[in-house]
Amino acid sequence: YSCKGHHRAFAIYRPELNKYSLQRLSLMSELRSALAEGQLKLYYQPKLMLADGQVSGAECLIRWIHPVHGFIPPDQFIPLAEQTGAIRDVTRWALKEAMHQQQKWSQAGLSLNMAVNISPLDLVDMQLPDIVADLFSQYNGNQGGLTLEVTESAVMSDPDMAIRALEKLKSMGVILSIDDFGTGYSSMAQLKKMPVHELKIDKAFVLDLATNSEDQIMVNTLLGLARHLGLKTVAEGVEDASSLAFLKRAGCHKAQGFYMSKPLPAADFDMWLKNYPESSS
Ligand code: C2E
Ligand code: MG
Ligand code: MG
Ligand code: MG
Repeated sequence: YSCKGHHRAFAIYRPELNKYSLQRLSLMSELRSALAEGQLKLYYQPKLMLADGQVSGAECLIRWIHPVHGFIPPDQFIPLAEQTGAIRDVTRWALKEAMHQQQKWSQAGLSLNMAVNISPLDLVDMQLPDIVADLFSQYNGNQGGLTLEVTESAVMSDPDMAIRALEKLKSMGVILSIDDFGTGYSSMAQLKKMPVHELKIDKAFVLDLATNSEDQIMVNTLLGLARHLGLKTVAEGVEDASSLAFLKRAGCHKAQGFYMSKPLPAADFDMWLKNYPESSS
């Protein structure tokens, strides 16, 4: 019998494994109208300063509330948007929506930094700095500040180009953060030259920080590297009190994770903020 081999050959042609499956193709073509029809939503996840427990700001994370498929997480459509180039419109929408929300917080007396994720393609978008500048003037000079999170792999794939784009944004007062740090391949020589303010340690090193001694070593090492480079640090994926305590002892500046809060719609974020000092810390 050679059943095993048969099964394997069959599996290769399962349509859902094809990256151009019908469902993916239809999602790709629907994304532009999703934007126009308001099916995309931003959720907000708080970031804490570890020194004093204050909420320093929020990261906005996109969701697609699809009329047929329901809740679609970003990992399932951001890569598609990157392939089709639709990401440029998604990023423009997210920046505007996030800064509009930030202005609402500001009008309610809350000064919160807003972090927006941008894709590798946005870094080569020559219009991005102008778009950000326009939004700054539209939304009152952006009180609370704007952070752009760009992944390590995006920055390292073309370091010279990334440096030029980041320099421009930095000169406008944008805070720059290298997202998912530790999972890509950074050249230390390039990292030293990157005009960024912050390293964001990937949740892969943080989720089991309370119990996994290898993760503890990695996190200490990444924090040490950041310190020597004069960079601030954020840890994502904090799910329990002992991980939070570890990060604080280790000198990490900020933390973000389900232990504090999941990403929330703006109204729920407001409720969370009102209850925050009592509910955690
Ligand atoms: P990211 O920027 O690294 O965001 C962190 C992800 O970790 C988010 O997943 C967040 O919900 C999740 N997370 C936060 N705290 C915890 C925790 O304690 N435990 C666990 N298990 N997970 C936690 P999400 O929202 O599904 O986003 C996934 C990725 O999609 C983001 O990773 C980012 O790369 C991308 N993304 C999200 N929104 C946007 C956007 O507006 N534009 C672009 N270009 N990419 C986006
Ligand atoms: Mg991020
Ligand atoms: Mg991240
Ligand atoms: Mg990540």
